[in-house]
Order: sequence, then C-alpha cells, then structure tokens
Amino acid sequence: MKILIVEDDFASRKILQSLLTPYGSCDIAIDGEEAMYAFTLAHKENTLYDLVCLDIMMPKMDGHQVLKEIRKFEAQKEIGGSDGVKVIMVTALNDPKNIMDAFKSQCEGYITKPIEKDELITKIKSLGLI
Ligand SMILES: [Mg+2]
Repeated sequence: MKILIVEDDFASRKILQSLLTPYGSCDIAIDGEEAMYAFTLAHKENTLYDLVCLDIMMPKMDGHQVLKEIRKFEAQKEIGGSDGVKVIMVTALNDPKNIMDAFKSQCEGYITKPIEKDELITKIKSLGLI
C-alpha cells in the first residue's frame, strides 16, 4: 500500500516510517502544506494513497485543516465514503475534544503519542489495509 506520513516532529516521523515501511511505501511530509502538495500530486499522477497518518499539532496548517482539505478535495472529485483515503490522526493530546473534532472532519481513527507499534498496527488492521 501507499502511505503518506504527515508529521512535523523528526523523531515521530522516524518512528512512523520505521513501523510502516514493512507494510508499504512511505512518503513523508513535514507540514500541512507539503501534505496537500503530496496528496494532490498523487491524484494528478493517479497513484493514490491508501493511508495518511496525520499529526494534529503542526505549525501553519494543523492536522484538522489538512483533513478538511483532503475531504474537500475528494468531494470535488466525487470520491466519497469508503473510496476516500483512510486517515489516522496522530495526537499527543489524549484530549476528547480534539479527537471528536477530528472525527467530525471524517478521519477513520486516531492514535496517541508516544506512538506504540501494537496500537498502530491494530488500527491499520481494523481498517482492512493489511
Ligand atoms: Mg506535531
């Protein structure tokens, strides 16, 4: 599968990449703007992502904004429901409001930092990606 990791923190990026590499090819974006660039480029090249791991707390454009932009972009292309990319939010905040906000913008799940291998892999399995 094709995976996009969106994370501004170097250490978290490295962990996610090493955990996900066995399951597919990973692209990395270090902020929201780069994430949208990668996401739209993938559509242009018709090599869509299967999974986006999206950090919530990032400077400039945060994970909530990126998620909204992704769903808006898909809606314009009439991609909806289960055809949309699967998005797992990654958050340091084990904070119900932040997570509920993410679900309102249509993510498929979330994991909390520190990132744990079992939690991440279980989540990906539950989405039917592996
Ligand atoms: Mg961050």
